Amino acid sequence: MTARHVQAVLGSLATAVLASQYVPSVVALGQWGPVRVLPGELCRWQGPRFPGRVALTFDDGPDPEGTPRVLDALDELGLRATFFVLGARARDRPDLVHEVAARGHQLATHGDEHAHHLWRSPAWVHRDLEHARDTMTALGHPPRWFRPAYGQATGATIVLARAMGMRTVLWSASGREWASSDPLAVVGHVARRLRPGAVVLLHDSDRFGPDGMWRAVLDALPLVAAELQRRQLSTVTMDELVC
Ligand SMILES: [Zn+2]
Repeated sequence: MTARHVQAVLGSLATAVLASQYVPSVVALGQWGPVRVLPGELCRWQGPRFPGRVALTFDDGPDPEGTPRVLDALDELGLRATFFVLGARARDRPDLVHEVAARGHQLATHGDEHAHHLWRSPAWVHRDLEHARDTMTALGHPPRWFRPAYGQATGATIVLARAMGMRTVLWSASGREWASSDPLAVVGHVARRLRPGAVVLLHDSDRFGPDGMWRAVLDALPLVAAELQRRQLSTVTMDELVC
């Protein structure tokens, strides 16, 4: 093999590695558009359209202020949800993690640190996912679902999560409470994309967005519950939405 051949092979390899890391990151755009090319075993945006069920999901906790208030509201409204918690925060507040489970909700992981995967190496993503998974497993809640921070699911993210027994899920509806803290705006955003099988993204913490996010969600939850009732949709966990 000549030096030129070696160079060509190395060039192709580098391209393949870069492609696996960055090209599938376009799936993050799937929440807004039709870029949904990956099989559901690897990456999900929503569940089946029948029967009439949706999954409410909460990111960025456990939060000492937001999580208990959201849990109380869910109890009052008779809603069930899935909480995508951060490993680092779960280690700080294991009591809140156990409380989420005790109230009948599902626990999933949002990774260990809240970082942009696009700017991290596959080795970093591997360490982060492993740490998050091990934390949740040690707490008695091995995660089956993973949502990357900012919806940045790169090729490495999805493949590594699957290898660790987790399926990646983004979302099909969002309260966009980072853009407006008006509960009417939050429920309006959710309602626009609320349909059977929807995966609804909300937050029970302000840590990675503007102050007031979880309070806006808290105020919007009764309105979301009314909208669900009007459309005869029930709330289930991610496991129940996607078997
Ligand atoms: Zn987040």
